[in-house]
Amino acid sequence: MFGPGLLFVVSGPSGAGKDTLVDALRQRMPRLKYSVSATTRAPRPGENEGEHYFFLSRDDFQKRIASNGFLEHREYNGNLYGTPRDFVEHTLTEGYDLFMKPEVNGALAIKAAFPDAVLIFLLPDKFSHLRERLLARRTETNEEIARRLEIAHSEMQYLRNFDYIVINEDRREEEAVNDLEAIVRAERFRIHRYDEDSIRKLEDS
Ligand code: 5GP
Repeated sequence: MFGPGLLFVVSGPSGAGKDTLVDALRQRMPRLKYSVSATTRAPRPGENEGEHYFFLSRDDFQKRIASNGFLEHREYNGNLYGTPRDFVEHTLTEGYDLFMKPEVNGALAIKAAFPDAVLIFLLPDKFSHLRERLLARRTETNEEIARRLEIAHSEMQYLRNFDYIVINEDRREEEAVNDLEAIVRAERFRIHRYDEDSIRKLEDS
């Protein structure tokens, strides 16, 4: 009864908690695959090559663009970020469900390439929490934080292009992870994902 894997795209403003929530979801649903992006940004303390990102020089990133190696790529706050094409295509073809967490324009580009992708917009319960979270993680300068907040406001205009909204309430992350899990489970049962052949086989069995 299973067709190609499902593609889940979690997006939303920087500081909404994408990284923490997607990590928690992957622990709960270990069969979900995760698409590691490439970036030209320098690694933060604790970030590992191939696990959090593939860290590339700008030159290598440009070469990958030229060889059509990305499904989508964006400049975000002075750095390049991109979704490697091969991994996503192979993983879905093999029937695995796959998660990724690009910024909002990247999410929309993914939807254009994979109209069946499920887009989830993640937001904090209060916009002011974005600033607090970015300050607390101490990985960006004040200017970078200001810039990320500006981008966050402009990203809100695309909210209605998404399929789901999940609110990551302060100190209630567990609930937001429950919500993400509920979306993944519900999407797997959608009728349009089952072709006539597999329904007929079920009927004939
Ligand atoms: P950060 O520097 O905080 O890791 O990421 C900055 C922004 O880039 C985040 O909003 C993150 O979701 C986004 N991002 C990470 N990987 C990709 C990607 O492959 N494509 C796009 N378009 N955005 C990405």
